[in-house]
Amino acid sequence: MLYQQATFTLSAAKLSQLPDDVGYEVAFAGRSNAGKSSVLNVLTQQKSLARTSKTPGRTQLINVFSLDDERRLIDLPGYGYAKVPESVKKHWQNLLDNYLQTRKSLRGIILIMDIRHPLKPFDLMMLEWAHACNLPIHVLLNKADKLKRGPAKNTLLAVQAELQQYSQGANVQLFSALKKQGMQECYRFLDQSLNLNDKGEDDA
Ligand code: GDP
Repeated sequence: MLYQQATFTLSAAKLSQLPDDVGYEVAFAGRSNAGKSSVLNVLTQQKSLARTSKTPGRTQLINVFSLDDERRLIDLPGYGYAKVPESVKKHWQNLLDNYLQTRKSLRGIILIMDIRHPLKPFDLMMLEWAHACNLPIHVLLNKADKLKRGPAKNTLLAVQAELQQYSQGANVQLFSALKKQGMQECYRFLDQSLNLNDKGEDDA
């Protein structure tokens, strides 16, 4: 399936270093430790794909993984726990903001949250930007395996309610990279955003 073919293409410190702005991309965002690397790895069924993005020097960059000639997965820098200087934060914010506002091939965002700590300021910022740019956003409440079914469902409903104000198109789902829970629903969003019809749907 197509997602298994993801290969690391490049890391960009500025937008001009990104591949030509043609085709389709979906960007992955999340606070550090929400599980963005784990999610990318299970979706592409590659154990160490996103490790590339975690090598020193790359965590603050936009990392690009190509699926085929016209489709890409984009790993955006995230922060949260990391105690970074305000100037660095500003730089990341500018980079992200410019990317979201100007990138024509960007068709959707997957925002990953730790289900135990949803809707932190970083997440709200992403939701607001996506809304302002009219971009579909799909929220994964990752690490759903950490909660029992009832509390997980309650968090899902609470976040769903909260998202109403940001964007009509915002979806939210339970996910566990550890248990590979929620993969089909997530692939559906990816397929739709990347203009794939029936390719890449098998969940293995
Ligand atoms: P990133 O900083 O957002 O890229 O997060 P990582 O993918 O490195 O994950 C951070 C930590 O959370 C690691 O210890 C992962 O093993 C753990 N983790 C990621 N996804 C899950 C999940 O679905 N369930 C559980 N229980 N742990 C997870």
